[in-house]
Amino acid sequence: MGIRENLSAVKNSFKNPDCLLIAVSKTKPVEDLKEAYEAGIRDFGENKVQEMADKQPQLPADIRWHMIGHLQRNKVKYIAPFVSLIHAVDSLRLLKEINKQAKRNERVIDCLLQIKIAEEDSKFGMDIADATALLNSEELQNFKNVKIVGLMGMATFTDDEKQISQEFQRLKKVFDQFKIEKSELKILSMGMSGDYKIAIENGSNMVRIGSAIFGERNY
Ligand SMILES: *Cc1c(COP(=O)(O)O)cnc(C)c1O
Repeated sequence: MGIRENLSAVKNSFKNPDCLLIAVSKTKPVEDLKEAYEAGIRDFGENKVQEMADKQPQLPADIRWHMIGHLQRNKVKYIAPFVSLIHAVDSLRLLKEINKQAKRNERVIDCLLQIKIAEEDSKFGMDIADATALLNSEELQNFKNVKIVGLMGMATFTDDEKQISQEFQRLKKVFDQFKIEKSELKILSMGMSGDYKIAIENGSNMVRIGSAIFGERNY
């Protein structure tokens, strides 16, 4: 199947039609992104700064670029002029740098806090206590050029659907709790090719899907 067919198959399987699909195009050539663009996709996800910065000028300007991978502070400047949403913010220090670079570009950059929900400790992200502290910190109030608009999480890589479901449920609960006081939190980014159906059932409104659209990646 081609990219267009894959896209409609994925879209048709969404239980919530309002869930936003981010096409994760990492490692894929610009031609593949163009094909997805022509099929209507405007949101693309990349996990490497260099790759995103290389692809961006080669593609239409109305694309929204999502940085979904772990972001190093010294690389923020390369994507600050155009990035639409940074999904994996996990520290105040990183936010401070994003704020600085956003200011230089006279923009406000939307960010998600990555919350650790998976069992394995290889995954990045903050625990709930740290995220709470960050959201309530005074320093954050001074960052006028970043806006935290939601949360992101990755479930454990496992066949155990019950476990995946429980991890997503936990994040949804945290999201709902945070939202009571922070109404600006609107996005819950969870779900990838292998688990997006479970994520959507558990309240995700943004999924990041790569291989189910573009095929397996060859690293
Ligand atoms: C690669 C990646 C995805 C997409 O993975 P697939 O399994 O190919 O859908 C989603 N989120 C993050 C953070 C990723 O790095």
